[in-house]
Amino acid sequence: MLVTKLSEKIKKINIAGSVRFNVRLKDFTTFKTGGPADIFITASDAADIIKARQFAAENNLPVFILGGGANILVSDKGIRGITLYTGEMNQFTVEDNKLISHAGITVNRLAEAAMESSLSGFEFIYGMPGTVGGALWMNARCYGSEISQIFQWADVINDNNEIERIYFEKKDWAYKQSPFQSRGLFIYKCCFSLENQDKEAIQKEMNNNYNDRIKKGHFNAPCAGSIFKNNRSFGKPSGQIIDEAGLRGLRIGKAAVSDFHANIIINEGDAKASDILDLINLVRKKVKEQTGYDLEPEIIPVGEWR
Ligand SMILES: Cc1cc2nc3c(=O)[nH]c(=O)nc-3n(C[C@H](O)[C@H](O)[C@H](O)COP(=O)(O)OP(=O)(O)OC[C@H]3O[C@@H](n4cnc5c(N)ncnc54)[C@H](O)[C@@H]3O)c2cc1C
Repeated sequence: MLVTKLSEKIKKINIAGSVRFNVRLKDFTTFKTGGPADIFITASDAADIIKARQFAAENNLPVFILGGGANILVSDKGIRGITLYTGEMNQFTVEDNKLISHAGITVNRLAEAAMESSLSGFEFIYGMPGTVGGALWMNARCYGSEISQIFQWADVINDNNEIERIYFEKKDWAYKQSPFQSRGLFIYKCCFSLENQDKEAIQKEMNNNYNDRIKKGHFNAPCAGSIFKNNRSFGKPSGQIIDEAGLRGLRIGKAAVSDFHANIIINEGDAKASDILDLINLVRKKVKEQTGYDLEPEIIPVGEWR
């Protein structure tokens, strides 16, 4: 009803990308779950983002920024308002040892671009699903490194719909924390500072990391990577804690704690998002009862859950 009313109006804002309605979000998430997005805008540039956000403000609609959908759990009822998809903002340029890209490019493509230019720094993250914007927002980390270590600046669209440049400042970054989270900023463009190195050495390191992920089962079934953050004060990784609590293989519907890594929940077929969320809560409750540790979810539940 709301969508029908707004569909004519939104056409008038002339989005250069595309505007679609009732788009199935399970096609845009690595969990392969999620109901429809009422209004799905594929942004092609900063002007699209600004227009979409202005339209949302004028019509009192929420906006959700969707990257690769690799760290979110979209509800079965989907997302109301506007889902602003970045996946087609994927250009990049190389300037000396700097890689400057739009936020919607995949981490893998950017790592390959760095390698092609004999630039080292992205190898650690090669194989991780998602976009560069999502990785910055999450301060993605693996194999002992995190993306903040190569980050130099980002052009963001702020609440006033102005483009603002945010430079790296150590104090803004921590484990799974970035300066973009607190202010609801749209990361539009970003710059990474890399080092010249032998192309073959870079390629080798990338392949090692990718193959290690394959070996660990990361791509065996739809999932969103680690469900819970690690908490140093617990003295061991969350996966080990869940494992020791005997929860490997625990299931609700078609959602299961995977048998290859206890901190990964997989969709075994047509799992509902609600099954996955219930399973996350159940694991959390059982771990709390058995160990006293309160695991903090890393996955972000998104959309309408009522
Ligand atoms: C098999 C597998 C393995 C994984 N391994 C790892 C790992 O080793 N380390 C790790 O850290 N994570 C891992 N993850 C999780 C995921 O890949 C990362 O968190 C990734 O950075 C998410 O990026 P995304 O583009 O998919 O973001 P999304 O899931 O689309 O979004 C995540 C959050 O970022 C926000 N966001 C996205 N783009 C923008 C933007 N341009 N501007 C502002 N906000 C934005 C969204 O609104 C949302 O709040 C894994 C996931 C899978 C499926």
